[in-house]
Amino acid sequence: MASGSCACHFISYSASTPPTCLVNCHCKTCRRQAGAPYQTWAFFATKDLQWHINPTERQSTNAATRSFCPQCGSTLSMIQHRDPKSIGIAAGTLDEGNTQIPMPSHHIFLSEKASWFKLPENDAAKRWDKWGKYDKL
Ligand SMILES: [Zn+2]
Ligand SMILES: [Zn+2]
Repeated sequence: MASGSCACHFISYSASTPPTCLVNCHCKTCRRQAGAPYQTWAFFATKDLQWHINPTERQSTNAATRSFCPQCGSTLSMIQHRDPKSIGIAAGTLDEGNTQIPMPSHHIFLSEKASWFKLPENDAAKRWDKWGKYDKL
């Protein structure tokens, strides 16, 4: 089980499983959308995730459709068109407590990393210039 919501709690979701993996994406779109040096995505099987009210969708690039709360603007999700079976949920929206949330295991799109952000030296996460190879499911 996992659950979460946007900053204003208008949009919430629940999932029948914990996230399978967490990935820090440093691409320009994620950085701008998050307003932060990177966006952490928590991946779920799309079929296991239930929105209580659907968020607003936006096709951010040819590669992905993102969603956000129409009331408070919180980033909520991202689905890569090449892999619609999994959904990335903005990890900062996850409730904590009874859910087992793994540590981020990959940094991706480091070719677009903010120059002013220094990666932690001792995290065990793998590093990739572009997409990287990891199992979302
Ligand atoms: Zn909201
Ligand atoms: Zn990204």
